[in-house]
Amino acid sequence: MHRVSRKQFLAACGATMAACAAAPRAGAPAEGRSDDVGAARPTASPVGPPLEGVTSPAPAWAVLHRSGELKRRGDALWQRQDRCDLCPRQCGARRLAGERGACGANATLEVAAHHPHHGEERSLSGRQGSGTIFMTHCTLRCVFCINWPISQGGEGQRRSLGDLAGMMLSLQRQGCHNINIVTPTQYAAHVLLALDLAADRGLRLPLVYNTSGWERLDVLRLLDGVVDIYLPDIKYAEEAMADRFSPGAGSYPAVTRAAVLEMHRQVGVARPGADGLMRRGLMIRHLVMPNGVSGSRNTITWIADHLPRDTYLNLMSQYRPEFKARDHPAIARPITRAEYEDAVDWARKAGLTNLDIQGAGWLSG
Ligand code: SF4
Repeated sequence: MHRVSRKQFLAACGATMAACAAAPRAGAPAEGRSDDVGAARPTASPVGPPLEGVTSPAPAWAVLHRSGELKRRGDALWQRQDRCDLCPRQCGARRLAGERGACGANATLEVAAHHPHHGEERSLSGRQGSGTIFMTHCTLRCVFCINWPISQGGEGQRRSLGDLAGMMLSLQRQGCHNINIVTPTQYAAHVLLALDLAADRGLRLPLVYNTSGWERLDVLRLLDGVVDIYLPDIKYAEEAMADRFSPGAGSYPAVTRAAVLEMHRQVGVARPGADGLMRRGLMIRHLVMPNGVSGSRNTITWIADHLPRDTYLNLMSQYRPEFKARDHPAIARPITRAEYEDAVDWARKAGLTNLDIQGAGWLSG
């Protein structure tokens, strides 16, 4: 397997995360947005001056930044935190008043790590790495999450919008090929507003929206023209499985399929440039799980029936029972080689032509 798992990556980032926690912050306490923006506007170190000599094509969001629409949309998303409905849970948390929602987030941004990531898809990592920013908390809350200390344990540091803009610019200065926001849904407003700040300072990288896929259509429509690359999971094909292993998310299959169609409408099929780097498009991930829990055949058939046959699909084989997975017999083991190969064979028979297939030699059975 050529990829480093997120867990391995985060372990390697430990020193960086500690350094982030200890570093002086660019702004006043990140409790409220007005303080964040005013105090943390990236006019000084650690953001640094605009990058010179960047020659890659302008990202999609540059047009909306110039017109002021990027900030207007960020403001609109921000206000929705008053009684939050940013994700399908629609829990109504008064995030602007400090209340935490079902995802664990309030209006104060929390970030676990940011770092060039060399273990993402090849067209995202390239030679210099994908500029990955790991958000704390998660709307989906899977019982098998490999990143559970961050997604459900609250691991991370409080950050301002200026800090987030500074992370984006730092990743650009390090040569990363894109800004890859991992688990962005609960912080969609923060991402757009920080992007707007970073654009003022010369950010030019494509934005990757690295999501569980469980997204509301009306929120996605506010991301139209902002996101360059959608990187959604399609985790489940059956409501019962979604509800059992991501409690409260029984709507996942229908909601995520509608979301993926909207993502495709916005950015189309992902096709790398001559240099092998992806700058626009839909890249789907599907984690094959044991005992048919993820409904791989069903999901693959749906993709083949509803999207172009050259839609990018990464069939992931690295499932491991982590977090609470051992409490659930159906998912208490890794997948077998036969389970993975069945998914691959099914995808080929379905006519999908843009498959990212991992070596299965290390799998048992
Ligand atoms: S993003 Fe969080 S706070 Fe907002 S509706 Fe979803 S779970 Fe609730």
